[in-house]
Amino acid sequence: MINSIYTKEKLEKVKWKDLLQLKQSEKIAEIFIGLPWLSVSLVLAFIHWYIPAALCSFMFFLCGLRQCHNGFHYALGISKQRTEAFLFLLSTLMLCSMHAVKYNHLQHHKHCLDEKDVEGSSARMKWWQAILMGPLFPIKLNVNALKNANSSIRKWVIAENFAIGLVLFLDLLLEIASSFFTLPQCS
Ligand SMILES: [Zn+2]
Repeated sequence: MINSIYTKEKLEKVKWKDLLQLKQSEKIAEIFIGLPWLSVSLVLAFIHWYIPAALCSFMFFLCGLRQCHNGFHYALGISKQRTEAFLFLLSTLMLCSMHAVKYNHLQHHKHCLDEKDVEGSSARMKWWQAILMGPLFPIKLNVNALKNANSSIRKWVIAENFAIGLVLFLDLLLEIASSFFTLPQCS
């Protein structure tokens, strides 16, 4: 006799609906959750209030991580195609390829904390090694995705890194251009 908590009858009684289907208002909230933080951060940076701007950017980043994770599992309430495009957009705003993060995150679920789990690799290190490795972590994720992911993911990773490079280049141009103009100063 099978005495499992996962019998078919029991599983069928579970209401999964709340996990799979979002209302229209929830979809909109999920997609735009980070936008207020990003907008306020840009305004504050424009008037040279850099510390509050950095705090708002931090909040935007946290919202982005939530959105990305939902995107990795196609739980944003939008189509797969739109989810891929949304991850691309978030990559350019968070300056890291979200498809590289996606690949590593799905591997983390599959090989949790074993040798193939690059995302969880810091958990096998001493605390100070994990901190020192922090800046290299995004590079490790990109290299692993480019080496081991399928061609579709690899194409996204390349496109996202190219777009990030373009964003940084345009930012540099804007910096140079702004040095020729006087921007409003905050007293
Ligand atoms: Zn996950």
